[in-house]
This record gives sequence, C-alpha cells and structure tokens, in this order.
Amino acid sequence: MGLLALGTPLPWSEAKKHADYVREHGIEQLLHIWNRLKDRTGDRLLWGDEIEYLVISYDDEGKNARLSLRQTEILQDLQADAQERRDAGSGKGKEACIPVFHPEYGRYMLESTPGAPYGATLEDLLLVEGNMRFRRKLAKSRMKPHEVPLTLTSFPRLGAPGQFTDPYYPPGGGVARSLFLPDEVINQHVRFPTLTANIRRRRGSKVAINMPVFFDEKTPRPFIDPTVPRDRDEWPEDKNAREGAALDDHIYLDAMGFGMGCCCLQLTFQACSVGEARRMWDVIAGSVDDRTPEERGLEPLKHDRFRIPKSRYDSVDCYIADTPSNRPEYNDNDMPIDTAIRDRLVSRGMDQLLATHFAHLFIRDPIVIFEETMCQDDEKSSDHFENIQSTNWQTVRFKPPPPGSPIGWRVEFRSMEVQLTDYENAAFSVFIVLLTRAIMTLGLNFYLPISKVDENMHRAHRRDAINTQRFFFRKNLFDPKPGHPCDPGLDTNPAFTTASSSASASAPPPTHSNGNGHAREPSSASDCPSLPVTACSSHAPSRAPSPSAYSSPSTAPSSATSPPSSFGPVEDEYAEFTLAELINGSTRPEHGGDFPGLIGVVRRYLAGLDVSDEVRRGIERSLELVRRRADGSLVTLATYIRRFVRAHPQYQGDSVVSQEINYDLVRALDQIERGDRDAPDLLPAGWRDEYERDAGSGAFARCCGDVLGEAPLGGAKVD
Ligand code: ADP
Ligand code: MG
Ligand code: MG
Ligand code: MG
Ligand code: MG
Ligand code: MG
Repeated sequence: MGLLALGTPLPWSEAKKHADYVREHGIEQLLHIWNRLKDRTGDRLLWGDEIEYLVISYDDEGKNARLSLRQTEILQDLQADAQERRDAGSGKGKEACIPVFHPEYGRYMLESTPGAPYGATLEDLLLVEGNMRFRRKLAKSRMKPHEVPLTLTSFPRLGAPGQFTDPYYPPGGGVARSLFLPDEVINQHVRFPTLTANIRRRRGSKVAINMPVFFDEKTPRPFIDPTVPRDRDEWPEDKNAREGAALDDHIYLDAMGFGMGCCCLQLTFQACSVGEARRMWDVIAGSVDDRTPEERGLEPLKHDRFRIPKSRYDSVDCYIADTPSNRPEYNDNDMPIDTAIRDRLVSRGMDQLLATHFAHLFIRDPIVIFEETMCQDDEKSSDHFENIQSTNWQTVRFKPPPPGSPIGWRVEFRSMEVQLTDYENAAFSVFIVLLTRAIMTLGLNFYLPISKVDENMHRAHRRDAINTQRFFFRKNLFDPKPGHPCDPGLDTNPAFTTASSSASASAPPPTHSNGNGHAREPSSASDCPSLPVTACSSHAPSRAPSPSAYSSPSTAPSSATSPPSSFGPVEDEYAEFTLAELINGSTRPEHGGDFPGLIGVVRRYLAGLDVSDEVRRGIERSLELVRRRADGSLVTLATYIRRFVRAHPQYQGDSVVSQEINYDLVRALDQIERGDRDAPDLLPAGWRDEYERDAGSGAFARCCGDVLGEAPLGGAKVD
C-alpha cells in the first residue's frame, strides 16, 4: 500500500490547499529520476510476488468464522522472527529465504513477499511454490491456535449483521461512517484512517458500491437489502443510503474497507531498461472513488479541474511503449490529462507518450499529506511523486527506480485474484512470468485498442464469465514479423538463462532488495539455483529475437509465411475469443486459423530453451491448472463457493449466507488448502503430490532448508 511515513496527517480541508505543491514537486522528483536514469540499462530481470491473506479467527462453539484484528501483533512477531534469523547469521547470502511481511489496509490482513526477488533462471520458478508455502507456514506459526491465514479475495460476511470481527465492534465510527463496518477494521496506522476519511471528504459523500444480488429461487423481488439501517441518524452521511445511494436488487457497500479489505496477488518485474519496462506494460474500482459530483459528471464543472471517467482504482488507461507496433490508435480511451504537467515533462526531456501517462496520473489530488514531510529534497526523495503514483491503483503500474537505490525500472501486474492454495498462486505467477518472457523474447504483439481491454475487464466481472463471455484479443500475435520495419527491436534480457549458463558468466551481480527498498548483497548460495548474472546486451540496435528462439521449427511463428503486416484498419486486428480459445488456442477462421493461445505461446518459447526434467515437470504442473481452469474442466473458486453454499443443508435458497454456512464454508476452504479435503472439481488430482515432495527434497528445501533450521515445510503437512 505504498508509503508508511509517520507523522501528522493533514485533514482534507488543509491537504487540498497543498495539492498543487505536492504535484509540482512530485513532477520535479520524477524528472530527476527520469533524467538521471532514463538511459540506465543492463539491469537483470528480477521479479517477485505479493500475496495478501485474511486472518480468520474461529469460534467453534458459536459456529462462527470471524476476521481477527490482530494484524499488528502478528506482524511484530513475524518481523522479530525474521530479524532473529538474520542476526543468527545462518542466512548469510540467503536473504531470499527469509520472507518479508507487510501491513495492509485491513486490520485483519497480512501481506507477504519473498525475502529477495527471484532471478531470470527457469530453476528459480521451482522455488516459488515452496517459498509461498513457507510464508504461509511462518504466518500461521505466529497465530493463535484458533487463527488461520486464508488467501481468499473477500470475506463473505464482511459487513453483515452479527459478529464478523474478533474482537467484536459495532459498525460505525467517525472515519468511514459506515453503516456496516466498524472503523476498527482499518489498519490503525494514521495513514489509513486519514486516507479513508479524506476520500470521503473530498468526494463529499461516502463511497457507494452496489453489487447486483445473486437472485436465487426464494430471493424476494425486488430485493431491498434488509440489512441496511436506513433510519440510522448518527452522521450526516447516514442519509446517503435512504436518499438513493443504496439501489434495489443490489448489496450496498459504503466504505473503503469493502475494496481495500480484499486480497490479491501481484507480481512486480524489474526490466533491464526503461524501454523494456514500457513494452512489458501491454501484457495484460468503486471502493476508493474519491471523485466529486463535478468530476463524476453529475454537476457542471465549477470548482474542479476535470471530468474523470474512472475511479483512482481501475483498469490501466494507456499503453506507454515507445515502439512502432504501439499504434496511436490503440490509446483510444477518454483519458483526461493535466496538459501543463505533460508540457512541463516534455520540455524537460520526456517523450509525449510517457509524459501523457504521468499527466494522467497527476490529475488526482494527493489524499494524505504529512505535515512533517512537506519539504523534501527533490533530487533525493520521491515521496511527493509516490504520494500520487501509489494512490493510482491501476491494473498495471509502471514503477520508476527509487532515488539512491540499486532498483531499476519495474512493472507491476495487479489484476490477479489471489487463489486459495499456494499451488494455484504459484501456478498463476509462473504462468505470467513465462508469458512476459515469451512476449519479450519472441517479440510478440499483443496490442488492441485499450478501450477493448476495459470492456474485457467489465465482461470478466460477470458471473461465470469463463464459460459465458467472450473477450477481445489480437488475432495475429506475430505481427509485425521480426526484421519488419515495425519490429520493436527488443533490447530485452536474452530470455531466461539456465542455472548453468548464468553461473559461467563473469559479470558481478548487482545488489538487490528485500522488497522494502533496502539494498543488500545478492545470494551466492552454492546449492541454490544461481541467480542470473547475464545482463541485457545494453544498447543493441533493433534486432530480431535471439536465434535460439526461432531455430527449431516448433518455435517458428505461425505467421512466418504470411506477408508482412501493413497495419491495416485496427478493427481487423482483433476478434472475440472464449477464455478457452484465448488460453488454449483456436483454429477458427475468425481467429486467423492458427491462434496458439497463451499457453501455446509459452510452449513455443520453452521449446527454444534447454529445460531440465525437474523444471519441465514444475512448469507443466502450473500450466495444467491454467489450461483446465480456462477449458472449464476445473471450476473457479467463485463457482466452487456458490455451489457449496447452495448445497448447504441450512441454505434457504434466499441468497443469504448465514453465519453457520459461512463457518462451514471457511472451514472447508481451509481444509482444502491443508489437503484434508478433496476438491476434484477445483484442483487437479494429485495437486499435493509435488507439494509433499517439495517439503523434503524439492528445490525450495534444497535452497533454504539449512537457513530455516528445521525442515522448511515441517514434514508432510503445512498446518
Ligand atoms: P508494493 O507494495 O509497493 O507493490 P512490495 O514491496 O510489497 O511493493 O513488493 C514488491 C515486489 O517486487 C516483491 O515481490 C519483490 O520481490 C519484487 N521485485 C521485483 N523487482 C525488484 C527489485 N529490483 N527490487 C526489489 N523488489 C523487486
Ligand atoms: Mg498489498
Ligand atoms: Mg506496498
Ligand atoms: Mg506490497
Ligand atoms: Mg490490497
Ligand atoms: Mg504491490
């Protein structure tokens, strides 16, 4: 969640007076970074994940599952534990093995990241699942016997009547003024309540989210949510609900916690240069909607600067790659920008495209300003810049290097849902890593008008979207062909290195970070997959992808024989695909006849590499999940949960998930995660076998076992 500076936060009435100042200096700070580091190149591919957890607290007697509000205590213990491991010195050179835990918005949430980012070896992919499981185990070890970390997007009874937190607090409080959530669910660090209150104050009302109710056989029509206390009159905002904010046939949510209190899975990649980071970008709301009525288009613009179509938390708005294949036509979103900021960036050396992106982010006001940190050295700090950058919660984030750190240009993928098991979290992470490498290495083109990406996001939101929706996607991914005048000319990392090839390289590895921005020496552990030391070949001029990627017939692009693209009408470039077609491939004529699917793309990429059996097995394990979720032979967790609730003996067919149903559901999910309950419709048979193997002799155990003192995964079961 960005910066956690300590200090005195300004109330909105004060903060808004300083908005221009923060923007002004934020841009100055960005320009310092840009002008110092725009030509920086040779960084290694580094990447890492972030996983968020709900902390569940069981009340077995009362048959209730609640959210434990012990974030602070659990984090303190986890951080002390990590420090002890570091002090013990056994982890020298193996910092990657000591996970980092972070606070999150919800006081019932935790976030974890690996101790250091992974590198560009395929062998590193084998560490991912073990690392995630170890993080879960550590988190669990600092919880009480009745508590458990659960990777579930949202808690089913968040804001429902009754006791859904431990300890119990009644709904309300001056910060969020929610009809459903107590302020006590918010992380108590002053930044979070301030963020919450200032969004409400800036907007002029509480946020309003209306989720369509799931109509079942006995759900009353129209559905008027009986849990909304329409007659409460404690705060001026209480009238929002009865004056139209709460819609019929919907569940009405009125606080930031309903969005920021959800869990997700994020991946951040460090690219070898700013150019590579910008190209990586093309791969892939309501809870913090701070827009005023004028900005939302409900009233004519009088006090505010822009009409803004989207919340601060929404899908990404523009492509930023500086390559010919990124045609201007693709950036077709209605995207307000601060033209003065754009012009200032351009006049100081930034190109139009990137300047436009930042000028769009900077239409927003800073929400939280700390009195003590107002004056900054713009050459050494990026706090004002980050203030606005990190409160634009888009699906993709382009992260400039922090001043004075060894960290390079990064891209963060933020659109993924967290999965119940670390097998699944690792599978989706591995898949995205491989896909980005395939795109960069094979020089693939995934562009389509960005308004279609928005439309895809809307469609993906619908119930059972996997089976019912089609999604816009580019038909010819190999367009333009390498060597064509429009070839982007990659100066990318030469794909993945294998452990053996990287070990033989001689360049000293740069330092990397623990994810908190603290630089430290890289691992040199002998039996760990060696971290890659092959930097990208710096300023290489436009060239085709590495020969190995195309050398075998199986890796040649399917369009190798078709004429070079002449960039015809944009509308001819894309079509609608089911998710199965998109992931697993399609031979339909309307898809171009030979669409490889995203898994097909990954396979072509892998075919050009030397892959060990162990790595291949690991990758196949990941691809199986992605393939089967897409083709519908495995269901999503959302479907699993709906089926579970509807089959529950207590369920009345009226859309109500009672406390007891919720308890049984959470228990069941927890049992699946531990391997104590089969879920063959959700997970592939034998999904735990490799898992068990990894506990004893797998890559993670080999790499980190000795650092952790005991068998890292504690025998057969993660409990
Ligand atoms: P935020 O919450 O700001 O998105 P986090 O620190 O929680 O950031 O997570 C950052 C992730 O990025 C971690 O998984 C980390 O391993 C990964 N990462 C990728 N590249 C780098 C890099 N060069 N330095 C540090 N972390 C990196
Ligand atoms: Mg987070
Ligand atoms: Mg963060
Ligand atoms: Mg984070
Ligand atoms: Mg979050
Ligand atoms: Mg993040």
